[in-house]
Amino acid sequence: MEGQYTPFSELAELCEKLSKTTKRLEKIRMISEFLKKLKKEEIAPAVLLIVGEIFPEASSKTLEIGFATISKVLESSPQKTLFGKPLTILNVAEYFDRIAKVTGPRSRENKELILRSMFERASELETKYIVKNIFGEMQHGVGEGVMLEAIAKASNTNLDSVRRALMFSGNLGKVAEVALTSGEEGLKSIGLTLFQPVKPMLAHMAYSFEEVFKYHKVIALEYKFDGARVQIHKRGNNVRVFSRRLTEVTISIPEIVNEVINGVNAEEAILDGEVIAVGANGRPLPFQDLMRRFTKVKNIEEEMKRIPLKLYLFDVIYLNGKQLVDRPYSERWSELERIVEKVELAPRIVTSSINEAEGFMKRAVEEGHEGVVAKALNSPYIPGARGNLWFKLKTADYLDLVIVGAQWGYGRRTGWLSDYFLAALDEETGNYEIVGKTFKGLTDEEFEEMTRKLLELKVEEEDNTVWVKPEIVVEVAYSEIQRSPKYKSGFALRFARITRIRSDKSPFEVDTLRRVRELYQKQQEKKGILKGGF
Ligand code: AMP
Repeated sequence: MEGQYTPFSELAELCEKLSKTTKRLEKIRMISEFLKKLKKEEIAPAVLLIVGEIFPEASSKTLEIGFATISKVLESSPQKTLFGKPLTILNVAEYFDRIAKVTGPRSRENKELILRSMFERASELETKYIVKNIFGEMQHGVGEGVMLEAIAKASNTNLDSVRRALMFSGNLGKVAEVALTSGEEGLKSIGLTLFQPVKPMLAHMAYSFEEVFKYHKVIALEYKFDGARVQIHKRGNNVRVFSRRLTEVTISIPEIVNEVINGVNAEEAILDGEVIAVGANGRPLPFQDLMRRFTKVKNIEEEMKRIPLKLYLFDVIYLNGKQLVDRPYSERWSELERIVEKVELAPRIVTSSINEAEGFMKRAVEEGHEGVVAKALNSPYIPGARGNLWFKLKTADYLDLVIVGAQWGYGRRTGWLSDYFLAALDEETGNYEIVGKTFKGLTDEEFEEMTRKLLELKVEEEDNTVWVKPEIVVEVAYSEIQRSPKYKSGFALRFARITRIRSDKSPFEVDTLRRVRELYQKQQEKKGILKGGF
């Protein structure tokens, strides 16, 4: 029976061919031809293995094997036997599935064993693509976009229908299978389903209200919370909560579950909102504290007391059997107001005035929140999309810092020193102390130029890091200063991004550690205080 299934070698050869052409249409044609030849049960795994996802986005499965394990297995693998049964696409998918299922004390060894038996049956080319899959870096220029087009072409269906089906299912493999076996009709039947999370709708960054009002005359503004996005699925007393990355977090946050059971008057609903952690003074706690709550699965009672959570809802996308994703935002908000009894909604205004908008933003920031989200009143809810219907406006803070080291990039950034250690001046010792690291903000040309300059300033190279003479000053935007044991300075910037190369500044003019400390203090004054201190 197995013999009839498509050998994995064909998939590896396809990937190899894909990496040899830069032509998008050619890639689409090749993948489409390949998909058409597959058996029904092979379609989903093949699609995921081609794009390097292994498991669908909406699944919580992960391999949990790192570089060290792979190198160890590869180095110690025996010579290939010619007698081993060749791998099929389904075999590879099954091996990965088994690896993901391994848990418990000896999980590392057991994962290694499974990996080893897969490699023993793989040719050199197959091994190459298995490894690429594990790292999720296929390097053949086929992402979700190309794959969606290939699926539409292979199944003779509309690209928009394929895209929409993916939005709802979060499973590229499943979408391909349905498109190829049941066509347009099948795709249409994929919709929102209770207890199957969909990607949340996202917002574009805007830097001023003028910008937002260019797109929309009237907007709704809601507080932007620096919390964790939650998608809450409810049927009666059965409530399950999913994170932004679609993993289930229900057991870690029982008080939120209870709040929804008792405070939302709807038999069935899918709600969208944000959870923040609140301090003893009622103000939001730093993100780190919140994350602790979301990852804890033990001693929850205790954690609930230490780090209390608060839920703010801002959307409803499914209500009592009806999908609301295509209804305008203003209508969904009215539905939300109607069903919500004891849960808080995001503070919100509807306005066409820049003054009023700025006043509202000021209030949000003074209360310790991140900024506001502006939403078009007629906005549908487009899962996973970031567009000109929702905008986020934040007040970023900036520091001028000096680059003291850099790491070699991998994947698309191979060959560039692309991850930078950023340092402030310790005015007492005259040394530079690292306060953060980032690979964000530079263009390809700037990476190129930066690599050249840094190599000229090289003092020492160890492993993957080049330490340099502190010379290049950059302006860095960040969202928060966190306490961190990672660097000697005791601080680490969150969401750091280089906004400018300050060739006009010398390293002696960068911000000092004292200033970082002061900014941290100021930031903390706006934040909540953890019970019992921390
Ligand atoms: P970002 O993570 O910077 O792309 O900003 C988008 C995130 O803002 C979303 O994922 C939400 O978690 C968060 N957020 C906070 N408040 C709101 C709100 N009122 N509406 C939508 N998203 C919000």
